[in-house]
Amino acid sequence: MLLTISTTHFPADDLSYLLHKHPGKIQSVDISAGKAHIFYPEVSNKRCTAALLLDIDPVGLVRSVGPKGNDFALEQYVNDRPYVSSSFMSAAIAKAYSSALNGKCKDKPELVDVAMPFTIKLSVLPVKGGEAILKLLFEPLGYGINAVQHPLDPAFPEWGNSRYFTVELSNTITLQQLLSHLYVLIPVCDNDKHYWVNHEEVEKLLAKGKDWLETHPARELIVRRYLKNQRSLANEALGVLLSKDEVEEASPQETAIEVAGDIEEPQLRIHELRLNAAKEELLLAGAKRVADLGCGEGKLIKLLLAEKQFEFILGMDVSYRSLEIAKERLKLDRMSEKQIQRIQLIQGSLTYRDKRLEGFDGVALVEVIEHLDESRLAALERSVFEFAKPGVLVITTPNAEYNVLFADYQQGKMRHNDHRFEWTRKEFEAWSNDLALKYNYNVIFKPVGDVDPEVGALSQMAVFSRQDKVEEQFV
Ligand code: SAH
Repeated sequence: MLLTISTTHFPADDLSYLLHKHPGKIQSVDISAGKAHIFYPEVSNKRCTAALLLDIDPVGLVRSVGPKGNDFALEQYVNDRPYVSSSFMSAAIAKAYSSALNGKCKDKPELVDVAMPFTIKLSVLPVKGGEAILKLLFEPLGYGINAVQHPLDPAFPEWGNSRYFTVELSNTITLQQLLSHLYVLIPVCDNDKHYWVNHEEVEKLLAKGKDWLETHPARELIVRRYLKNQRSLANEALGVLLSKDEVEEASPQETAIEVAGDIEEPQLRIHELRLNAAKEELLLAGAKRVADLGCGEGKLIKLLLAEKQFEFILGMDVSYRSLEIAKERLKLDRMSEKQIQRIQLIQGSLTYRDKRLEGFDGVALVEVIEHLDESRLAALERSVFEFAKPGVLVITTPNAEYNVLFADYQQGKMRHNDHRFEWTRKEFEAWSNDLALKYNYNVIFKPVGDVDPEVGALSQMAVFSRQDKVEEQFV
C-alpha cells in the first residue's frame, strides 16, 4: 500500500525538509511486519510528492499475532493486511515521519507552522461504513474528498462493491496536522488493528488527537474504533476529552453514533428509511402534537420540523450529551421565535412515569427499545402505554432474522454492542400484540427496507393506534 503526499506550496521542495527525508535518495525503515520505503516521485519548487510504500511480509504477519489471536482460523493465510492501508500505515508514518508528526523541523523550524496546500492519495483504504464514514471523519477537518470504491470483482459486477477505496484528500493545513489526522483516522476507517490495544493506545490517541479530536463531531466514533471498540478504554479517553460527568452520559450517546456510523452502508440508508417511515405514520395519523422518545441527536425531529402539520414537537432522551448535539444540529440557538415555540428538548428516562409525555397525538420510538434491558421493558411499557397514552405510537426495532445476511454474520452476535436484545418478527409481533390488547390499541406491522422472502427486512415497525381515537374518527 502506498501513501503519497503532494504539495504545491512554494517552494514545494520544502516538503523534504519537513519530512527530514532527502529528495534524492530512497530510504527504508523497519516496521513490525515488514519495511516502509520513502521516496520522491516528483520534486521541483512548484510541486513535490513524497511516497511512503509499505512492504508487508505476510509470514512476519502470521508470527506477530497479538495475544488475542485470530477469531478466524484461515485469517493467517487469507487476509487483506499486506495490500491495504491500515494501522501498519500509521505505524509507518510514526516511524518514517516521526519528527514531522511531532512538529519538529531542524533545518527550517519556521515551516512547522505553515499551512500548505496538500493532496494525499491512499491507494487502497478499507472503509467500514463506506463513503459516508469518510465524509463523517474528514469533512469536519476541512478536507475535500475524492473517493473511488472498488468492485469486489470487476468480472462479476453483480457481486457489488468491496469495502476498498482509492482515496484522495486535499486540505490546506500544516504537515503535522495532516499526519496526525492520517495517523488516527486510517485505522479508524479500517476498524481493525494489527496489535493488541492497551492503555498506551489511549495516550497515543490523545497525543495525536490534541487540538482537533476534542471538537470533532464524530469523536465518540473515532475513539471507539481507534481503541478497537473497548468500552473501558474508550471511556478513559473520552473522560479526558469531555468533562468527567459527561462521560457517564456519553455511553448511551455512543449508541446513537453507532446508528449513524459503525455499520455498513446499506444500514446508513436504512436509518433514513426508518426515520421517514416514522414521520409518514405520524403525518398519516393527522398528529399535531408529537414526541420523539429516545430522540438521540434529533434526526427525526429535524424531519418533523419541516412538516407544518406538526404544531409542537417534543424530543426526549436520557443522554444529556445527545440532547446537546441535537440542540446544535437543529440550530436551536439561531431559530426564529416562532419556530422555537414549536420545539422542546427534555432529558428524561422512558422507564419512569413522566407527566411531560402525556397529551400527545403521536409518539415515535425509533431504534430505542433494544437499548433497554429486557427486565426494564415492563417499566417502559407502562410509562408509554399506560401513562403517556398517545393517539398513535410508532416503534421500530431491528429484525434479528435479517442478521444472517450480513457479511460478518456470527450467530448470536448483535448489530451493536449496546443492543440488549434483537427480536425476530414473531417476537416483536407477540410483544406488540400483547400490549395492544392490554392497553386498547390496534396494531399493524410494516417492514422497513427491502424485504427478503426468507428473513424479511432489516428493520421492523409497529404502528399502534389507540382504539378510542380510531372510534372517534368513525363517529
Ligand atoms: N431515535 C434516535 C436514536 C436511537 S439510539 C435515532 O433513531 O436516531 C437509542 C437512543 O435511546 C439513544 O439516544 C439513547 O440515549 C436513548 N435511550 C436509551 N435508553 C433510554 C431511556 N431509558 N430513556 C430515554 N432514552 C433512552
